[in-house]
Amino acid sequence: MSDRDPDAPLTEEDLYEVANLPKVELHLHHEGAAPPQFIRGLAREKNVDISKVFRKDGSYDFQGFLHFLSVYEAATSVLKTPDDYACLTTAILEESAKNGVVYTESFISPDFCGGGDVEAWRDYLHAIREAADAAERDMGITLRGVVTCVRHFGPEQAKASALCAAETAGDWIVGFGMGGDENKGKQSDFAYSYDMAREAGLKLTTHAGEWRGPSEVREAVEALGVIRIGHGVRAIEDPALCEMLAERDVVLEVCPGSNVVLGVYKSLRDHPIAKLKDRGVKVTVSTDDPPFFHTTMRDEYVNLAKTLNWDASVFRDLNQTALDAAFCDGATRDAVAKRLEIS
Ligand SMILES: [Zn+2]
Repeated sequence: MSDRDPDAPLTEEDLYEVANLPKVELHLHHEGAAPPQFIRGLAREKNVDISKVFRKDGSYDFQGFLHFLSVYEAATSVLKTPDDYACLTTAILEESAKNGVVYTESFISPDFCGGGDVEAWRDYLHAIREAADAAERDMGITLRGVVTCVRHFGPEQAKASALCAAETAGDWIVGFGMGGDENKGKQSDFAYSYDMAREAGLKLTTHAGEWRGPSEVREAVEALGVIRIGHGVRAIEDPALCEMLAERDVVLEVCPGSNVVLGVYKSLRDHPIAKLKDRGVKVTVSTDDPPFFHTTMRDEYVNLAKTLNWDASVFRDLNQTALDAAFCDGATRDAVAKRLEIS
């Protein structure tokens, strides 16, 4: 425990400590974490021209959320085989480990891994797991998978993803979630898929309250029974909802850098993460799609520390909240807790 005055400005030493903490991340899209140089290499190998998705400096090029989704889909269109996903997994975990992440959950969509076919999905999953096991041995980072359906593909296609999730639920596929365009359809349209996932023993999350307001977050909790919310930040607009989230221990997977780059908030100073926390809502910190948003877990921590004057003790608490809310089993949680204690 630190005995520093919480109002005193952070020193370089304090920031160094924050930057180098071991970290737990709960909200990371598998394809969205693909380093641009990895995608460019794969495109070259396969002779696919996706040069329009890159800026001159080699980073991803998009303006606004819908354009982001289309660039995302174009960039990831070169990921076509289980082998590609194995290489992608290694590339992602190398980046995360470099930034001090010791446990991460990533969203993996059967729509992109075998087109929703259960047997094809198993092949992709096998390849991803092998790469993840190697990364755990070599880099001390643990990955677990959360199967996601894509909201703008509609409820029918989501059922195929839910079936893939249910068929492979266990110690590695630990959760079910939904990403995509929040402005399409309703959370409750996906209740069938969420019921299937819950019955298979999977823990549940969904993207809500990023583009639409508090009612979306309320509906996610009430209609789908999720125990975590991707983003959920616009819950701050409804005090009664904040109270409900706090009472039910619903945990928000907050991605501040993503929210600022996509224009949900103008700047980190306008971001409600501290206000949500003050209202008793459980918050955690993640990157979402780090290379798209020019961020890393280290950057997220340092930027929040600088903006909110949060020292290492605050981030240790956030990590504990994240570990408690992780969808993995108890043995995995205990192993990760040991890695956090070292800090
Ligand atoms: Zn996301």
